Amino acid sequence: MQIKQDLLPTSASNRPGNKITPTYITVHETANTRNGANAETHARYIKGADARNRQVSWHYTTDDKEIIQHLPDNERGWHAGSGNGSSIGIELCVNSDGDFQKTKRHAANLIQRLMKKHNIPLSRVVTHKHWTGKNCPARLLNEWDSFKQLVSGVTSVPNETKPATPAPTPASKPQPTTSNTAAKSGEGIVDYLNRVGIDSSMNNRKKLADQHGIKNYTGTAQQNTDLLNKIASGKAPATKPAPKKATTSSTPAKSGEGLVDYLNRVKINSSFGNREKLAAEHGIKGYKGTASQNTELLNKISGSSPKPTSKPAAKKSSNPKAKSGEGLVDYLKRIKVDSSFGNRQKLASQHGIRDYKGTAKQNSDLLNKISG
Ligand SMILES: [Zn+2]
Repeated sequence: MQIKQDLLPTSASNRPGNKITPTYITVHETANTRNGANAETHARYIKGADARNRQVSWHYTTDDKEIIQHLPDNERGWHAGSGNGSSIGIELCVNSDGDFQKTKRHAANLIQRLMKKHNIPLSRVVTHKHWTGKNCPARLLNEWDSFKQLVSGVTSVPNETKPATPAPTPASKPQPTTSNTAAKSGEGIVDYLNRVGIDSSMNNRKKLADQHGIKNYTGTAQQNTDLLNKIASGKAPATKPAPKKATTSSTPAKSGEGLVDYLNRVKINSSFGNREKLAAEHGIKGYKGTASQNTELLNKISGSSPKPTSKPAAKKSSNPKAKSGEGLVDYLKRIKVDSSFGNRQKLASQHGIRDYKGTAKQNSDLLNKISG
């Protein structure tokens, strides 16, 4: 999808013109559900008196039809408080006459391109709430993990008129055709695919239908139900080995994270039935889903008791790999090692890096030595 440039005039007071180096991408929703409150409408709005008076501006707006750019990536916008000096702001339209699923996919595709262009890791794709506490993006906050998954896995945008260019992100991977995740009661195929991060475009559903032996897929309700049954948990066609159900995961639980949330996050079926099975496999008898059983099970599955209050300094080899594009500080935070300058200095010296001053080169050396 082409990005339509409709930049604010340089004379506009809400285009301050200060140069920034974007190291974050901040996601917003317009919170305007009126019919017609699409990207074009917001492109007009941002050029108007109200936006100037309220001192708001951001870089891109996406809807279900297009992506419009209002500010150059390297200029400060006014959308995220303390995040203004380091982030590119993206607004997703939530107009009720728009298709929010498509809007999300357009936004995900845009974010992917910006991540690549500015070397921004997924860990620095953040919400407006991250900076200011505002309840924005209101819808996506409820499905933030799955939106980020969409960002990391999306390979094309539906209804493209041109052939899709190869996915421009190192994070892109082949699209799965089945998933371990069970469909929720009443959930449709498109919502399901979006939730588990599989391309839900008509074209891809056609392809999936074909792979699962559903002929002449035209998207009827019956075909969609069939397809959902085949793709979702445990119902893969006999011609393919059923996806192996994981019973442990190398992903550590987050502090305060419950069992079900954890399982959902690592894509293990979190239904009571499966938890019962997992409990049995992990030697927990008479599983009834009590809080203490859940905690015990979580500890066994995630391979660690959650939230050690203090961790020894990171040592080589025992740590998880750094993600592609992940910086030292983000990495340390992720593995819950103190990322303060003082501790990095200590780590640097433990790893033979002298005169640590936090230069990019030293950080990348240190990251290489610490990460597995
Ligand atoms: Zn916002």
